[in-house]
Amino acid sequence: MRSALIGRPTVRVDTGSAHGPTPQPGRVIERVDCRGRELDVVWDDGLVLHTALRRSGTWHLYRMGERWRRPQRQVGVMLENDDWVAVCFNAADVETFRAGAERRHPASGPVGPDVTDPSADLSAAVMTLAGRVAPHTRVRDALLDPHVMRGVGNVFAAEALWENRVSPWARVGDMARSDLVMLVKSTARLVREHLAAAAPRSLGYAPLGLSVYARNGQDCHRCAEVIEVRRVRADGRLLYWCPGCQTRFDHRLLDDTPPAGARPAEYLIDVPRPSGGLSI
Ligand SMILES: [Zn+2]
Repeated sequence: MRSALIGRPTVRVDTGSAHGPTPQPGRVIERVDCRGRELDVVWDDGLVLHTALRRSGTWHLYRMGERWRRPQRQVGVMLENDDWVAVCFNAADVETFRAGAERRHPASGPVGPDVTDPSADLSAAVMTLAGRVAPHTRVRDALLDPHVMRGVGNVFAAEALWENRVSPWARVGDMARSDLVMLVKSTARLVREHLAAAAPRSLGYAPLGLSVYARNGQDCHRCAEVIEVRRVRADGRLLYWCPGCQTRFDHRLLDDTPPAGARPAEYLIDVPRPSGGLSI
Protein backbone atom coordinates (compact mmCIF):
# COMPACT_ATOMS: atom_id res chain seq x y z
CA MET A 1 0.00 0.00 0.00
CA ARG A 2 2.85 2.39 0.74
CA SER A 3 4.38 2.08 -2.71
CA ALA A 4 0.98 2.44 -4.40
CA LEU A 5 -0.36 5.33 -2.33
CA ILE A 6 2.39 7.48 -0.81
CA GLY A 7 3.35 10.66 -2.61
CA ARG A 8 0.37 10.52 -4.92
CA PRO A 9 -2.86 12.48 -4.89
CA THR A 10 -6.06 10.72 -3.99
CA VAL A 11 -8.61 11.22 -6.77
CA ARG A 12 -11.56 9.60 -5.00
CA VAL A 13 -12.25 8.80 -1.35
CA ASP A 14 -15.18 7.04 0.22
CA THR A 15 -15.04 6.61 3.99
CA GLY A 16 -18.59 5.31 4.22
CA SER A 17 -20.26 6.17 7.50
CA ALA A 18 -17.01 7.06 9.28
CA HIS A 19 -17.11 9.86 11.81
CA GLY A 20 -14.97 12.92 11.22
CA PRO A 21 -13.89 15.22 8.39
CA THR A 22 -13.89 13.87 4.83
CA PRO A 23 -10.50 13.56 3.09
CA GLN A 24 -10.32 15.96 0.13
CA PRO A 25 -9.70 14.66 -3.39
CA GLY A 26 -6.43 16.04 -4.72
CA ARG A 27 -4.63 15.81 -1.40
CA VAL A 28 -1.45 13.74 -1.35
CA ILE A 29 -0.99 10.75 0.95
CA GLU A 30 2.17 11.18 3.00
CA ARG A 31 2.21 8.14 5.25
CA VAL A 32 0.66 4.74 5.76
CA ASP A 33 1.25 3.67 9.37
CA CYS A 34 0.59 0.17 10.60
CA ARG A 35 0.45 -0.96 14.24
CA GLY A 36 -0.67 -4.53 14.58
CA ARG A 37 -4.19 -4.72 13.18
CA GLU A 38 -4.61 -0.97 12.95
CA LEU A 39 -3.77 1.00 9.84
CA ASP A 40 -3.66 4.80 9.47
CA VAL A 41 -3.50 6.73 6.21
CA VAL A 42 -2.17 10.30 6.63
CA TRP A 43 -2.66 13.05 4.04
CA ASP A 44 -0.41 16.06 3.52
CA ASP A 45 -2.95 18.39 5.13
CA GLY A 46 -2.75 16.41 8.38
CA LEU A 47 -5.97 14.46 7.94
CA VAL A 48 -5.73 10.94 9.35
CA LEU A 49 -7.90 7.99 8.33
CA HIS A 50 -7.82 5.40 11.09
CA THR A 51 -8.96 1.83 10.48
CA ALA A 52 -9.08 -0.87 13.16
CA LEU A 53 -9.29 -4.27 11.47
CA ARG A 54 -9.62 -6.61 14.48
CA ARG A 55 -10.39 -10.17 13.34
CA SER A 56 -12.45 -9.77 10.21
CA GLY A 57 -11.16 -6.58 8.60
CA THR A 58 -8.67 -6.47 5.74
CA TRP A 59 -7.17 -4.03 3.26
CA HIS A 60 -6.88 -5.07 -0.39
CA LEU A 61 -4.97 -3.27 -3.11
CA TYR A 62 -6.20 -3.55 -6.68
CA ARG A 63 -5.03 -2.22 -10.01
CA MET A 64 -7.57 0.10 -11.54
CA GLY A 65 -10.23 -2.03 -13.22
CA GLU A 66 -9.14 -5.23 -11.51
CA ARG A 67 -11.92 -7.43 -10.09
CA TRP A 68 -12.36 -7.18 -6.31
CA ARG A 69 -12.17 -10.43 -4.37
CA ARG A 70 -14.79 -9.44 -1.81
CA PRO A 71 -18.36 -8.21 -2.19
CA GLN A 72 -19.27 -4.52 -2.36
CA ARG A 73 -21.41 -4.72 0.79
CA GLN A 74 -18.31 -5.42 2.90
CA VAL A 75 -16.59 -2.21 1.77
CA GLY A 76 -15.90 0.25 4.58
CA VAL A 77 -13.33 2.53 2.94
CA MET A 78 -12.16 3.07 -0.62
CA LEU A 79 -9.21 5.22 -1.73
CA GLU A 80 -8.41 5.70 -5.37
CA ASN A 81 -5.52 7.28 -7.23
CA ASP A 82 -4.84 7.19 -10.96
CA ASP A 83 -3.59 3.59 -10.96
CA TRP A 84 -4.67 1.90 -7.75
CA VAL A 85 -7.72 1.29 -5.60
CA ALA A 86 -7.18 0.48 -1.92
CA VAL A 87 -10.26 -1.05 -0.32
CA CYS A 88 -10.84 -1.81 3.33
CA PHE A 89 -13.37 -4.60 3.88
CA ASN A 90 -15.17 -5.36 7.15
CA ALA A 91 -13.26 -2.87 9.31
CA ALA A 92 -14.32 -2.95 12.94
CA ASP A 93 -13.80 0.77 13.30
CA VAL A 94 -13.23 3.64 10.83
CA GLU A 95 -12.74 7.26 11.77
CA THR A 96 -11.04 10.39 10.47
CA PHE A 97 -9.45 13.21 12.42
CA ARG A 98 -6.82 15.89 12.09
CA ALA A 99 -3.35 15.09 13.40
CA GLY A 100 -2.58 17.25 16.40
CA ALA A 101 -6.17 18.49 16.44
CA GLU A 102 -5.87 19.33 20.10
CA ARG A 103 -2.80 21.54 19.50
CA ARG A 104 -4.50 23.23 16.58
CA HIS A 105 -7.57 24.08 18.55
CA PRO A 106 -8.56 27.74 18.18
CA ALA A 107 -8.21 28.02 21.97
CA SER A 108 -4.44 28.16 21.45
CA GLY A 109 -4.79 31.27 19.26
CA PRO A 110 -6.81 32.46 16.28
CA VAL A 111 -6.44 30.37 13.13
CA GLY A 112 -5.25 31.90 9.87
CA PRO A 113 -7.08 32.14 6.54
CA ASP A 114 -7.92 28.94 4.66
CA VAL A 115 -5.88 29.11 1.45
CA THR A 116 -8.21 26.72 -0.36
CA ASP A 117 -10.87 29.45 -0.18
CA PRO A 118 -10.33 31.86 -3.11
CA SER A 119 -11.85 34.72 -1.11
CA ALA A 120 -9.54 34.21 1.88
CA ASP A 121 -7.72 37.33 3.11
CA LEU A 122 -4.08 36.35 2.68
CA SER A 123 -2.84 39.61 4.16
CA ALA A 124 -3.88 38.21 7.56
CA ALA A 125 -1.33 35.42 7.07
CA VAL A 126 1.39 37.94 6.20
CA MET A 127 0.54 40.02 9.26
CA THR A 128 0.81 36.95 11.48
CA LEU A 129 4.15 35.99 9.94
CA ALA A 130 5.57 39.48 10.20
CA GLY A 131 4.14 40.32 13.60
CA ARG A 132 3.23 37.37 15.77
CA VAL A 133 5.48 34.50 14.72
CA ALA A 134 8.82 34.39 16.56
CA PRO A 135 11.61 35.62 14.21
CA HIS A 136 13.71 32.47 14.71
CA THR A 137 10.83 30.22 13.49
CA ARG A 138 11.75 28.38 10.33
CA VAL A 139 9.70 29.62 7.40
CA ARG A 140 8.88 26.08 6.40
CA ASP A 141 7.35 25.40 9.84
CA ALA A 142 5.45 28.70 9.77
CA LEU A 143 3.84 27.81 6.42
CA LEU A 144 2.46 24.66 8.04
CA ASP A 145 1.19 26.45 11.15
CA PRO A 146 -2.63 26.70 11.06
CA HIS A 147 -2.39 29.92 13.07
CA VAL A 148 -0.65 31.47 10.06
CA MET A 149 -2.82 29.86 7.37
CA ARG A 150 -4.72 26.63 6.93
CA GLY A 151 -4.85 24.08 4.12
CA VAL A 152 -1.22 24.26 3.00
CA GLY A 153 0.25 20.87 3.85
CA ASN A 154 3.77 19.57 3.51
CA VAL A 155 3.66 19.13 -0.27
CA PHE A 156 2.88 22.75 -1.06
CA ALA A 157 5.10 24.17 1.66
CA ALA A 158 7.96 22.39 -0.12
CA GLU A 159 6.81 23.53 -3.56
CA ALA A 160 6.38 27.16 -2.48
CA LEU A 161 9.86 27.31 -0.98
CA TRP A 162 11.29 25.91 -4.21
CA GLU A 163 9.31 28.32 -6.38
CA ASN A 164 10.66 31.26 -4.40
CA ARG A 165 14.21 29.80 -4.21
CA VAL A 166 13.96 29.97 -0.42
CA SER A 167 16.17 27.70 1.68
CA PRO A 168 14.50 25.24 4.04
CA TRP A 169 16.74 26.82 6.73
CA ALA A 170 15.29 30.28 6.19
CA ARG A 171 13.86 31.87 9.31
CA VAL A 172 10.90 34.20 9.38
CA GLY A 173 13.00 37.06 10.80
CA ASP A 174 15.45 36.83 7.87
CA MET A 175 12.80 37.72 5.31
CA ALA A 176 11.51 41.16 4.34
CA ARG A 177 7.78 41.76 4.38
CA SER A 178 7.71 41.85 0.57
CA ASP A 179 9.31 38.39 0.48
CA LEU A 180 6.71 37.06 2.93
CA VAL A 181 3.94 38.48 0.71
CA MET A 182 5.39 36.69 -2.32
CA LEU A 183 5.73 33.43 -0.43
CA VAL A 184 2.20 33.47 0.99
CA LYS A 185 0.72 34.34 -2.40
CA SER A 186 2.54 31.62 -4.27
CA THR A 187 1.74 29.05 -1.57
CA ALA A 188 -1.99 29.79 -1.87
CA ARG A 189 -1.84 29.79 -5.66
CA LEU A 190 -0.05 26.40 -5.76
CA VAL A 191 -2.60 24.80 -3.43
CA ARG A 192 -5.54 26.17 -5.41
CA GLU A 193 -4.14 25.24 -8.82
CA HIS A 194 -3.42 21.70 -7.77
CA LEU A 195 -6.76 21.16 -6.08
CA ALA A 196 -8.58 22.59 -9.12
CA ALA A 197 -6.65 20.35 -11.51
CA ALA A 198 -7.10 17.25 -9.39
CA ALA A 199 -10.85 17.61 -8.94
CA PRO A 200 -12.05 16.31 -12.31
CA ARG A 201 -10.96 12.71 -12.46
CA SER A 202 -9.98 12.86 -16.13
CA LEU A 203 -7.40 15.61 -15.57
CA GLY A 204 -5.64 13.80 -12.76
CA TYR A 205 -2.58 15.40 -11.25
CA ALA A 206 0.13 14.93 -13.82
CA PRO A 207 -0.58 18.06 -15.93
CA LEU A 208 0.78 20.24 -13.14
CA GLY A 209 3.45 17.97 -11.71
CA LEU A 210 5.63 18.79 -8.72
CA SER A 211 9.02 20.46 -8.66
CA VAL A 212 10.64 19.05 -5.52
CA TYR A 213 8.20 17.01 -3.46
CA ALA A 214 8.93 13.27 -3.79
CA ARG A 215 11.55 14.04 -6.48
CA ASN A 216 14.59 13.17 -4.36
CA GLY A 217 17.44 11.80 -6.44
CA GLN A 218 16.08 13.49 -9.56
CA ASP A 219 17.42 16.62 -11.27
CA CYS A 220 16.00 20.01 -10.42
CA HIS A 221 14.15 21.46 -13.43
CA ARG A 222 15.70 24.86 -12.76
CA CYS A 223 19.36 24.22 -11.94
CA ALA A 224 19.90 20.47 -12.61
CA GLU A 225 21.21 19.89 -9.07
CA VAL A 226 19.99 16.66 -7.47
CA ILE A 227 16.98 17.10 -5.16
CA GLU A 228 17.45 15.94 -1.59
CA VAL A 229 15.19 14.64 1.15
CA ARG A 230 15.49 14.57 4.93
CA ARG A 231 13.08 13.78 7.68
CA VAL A 232 12.37 16.69 10.00
CA ARG A 233 12.99 15.56 13.54
CA ALA A 234 10.43 17.85 15.14
CA ASP A 235 7.38 16.70 13.20
CA GLY A 236 8.49 13.51 11.45
CA ARG A 237 7.59 14.89 8.03
CA LEU A 238 9.73 14.66 4.93
CA LEU A 239 11.44 17.76 3.62
CA TYR A 240 12.39 17.91 -0.05
CA TRP A 241 14.55 20.71 -1.44
CA CYS A 242 17.08 21.57 -4.12
CA PRO A 243 20.45 22.46 -2.59
CA GLY A 244 21.46 24.12 -5.87
CA CYS A 245 18.92 26.89 -6.21
CA GLN A 246 17.07 27.09 -2.87
CA THR A 247 19.71 29.25 -1.27
CA ARG A 248 17.84 32.49 -0.47
CA PHE A 249 17.77 33.39 3.24
CA ASP A 250 19.80 30.32 4.09
CA HIS A 251 20.25 30.89 7.80
CA ARG A 252 23.44 28.85 7.82
CA LEU A 253 25.01 31.52 5.59
CA LEU A 254 23.44 34.51 7.34
CA ASP A 255 24.39 33.43 10.84
CA ASP A 256 27.54 35.03 12.25
CA THR A 257 28.52 31.91 14.11
CA PRO A 258 29.72 29.05 11.90
CA PRO A 259 27.32 26.09 11.74
CA ALA A 260 28.24 23.06 13.79
CA GLY A 261 27.87 20.74 10.84
CA ALA A 262 26.91 20.71 7.21
CA ARG A 263 23.30 20.30 8.24
CA PRO A 264 21.73 21.15 11.57
CA ALA A 265 21.30 17.77 13.18
CA GLU A 266 18.68 18.93 15.62
CA TYR A 267 16.32 19.62 12.77
CA LEU A 268 16.82 16.96 10.14
CA ILE A 269 17.68 13.30 10.09
CA ASP A 270 18.73 11.26 7.11
CA VAL A 271 16.21 9.20 5.23
CA PRO A 272 17.56 5.91 3.93
CA ARG A 273 17.29 5.53 0.19
CA PRO A 274 14.29 3.39 -0.72
CA SER A 275 14.76 -0.07 -2.11
CA GLY A 276 12.42 -1.16 -4.89
CA GLY A 277 10.04 1.14 -6.65
CA LEU A 278 8.98 3.32 -3.74
CA SER A 279 8.61 6.94 -4.71
CA ILE A 280 9.95 8.40 -1.46
ZN1 LIG B 1 17.54 23.70 -8.29
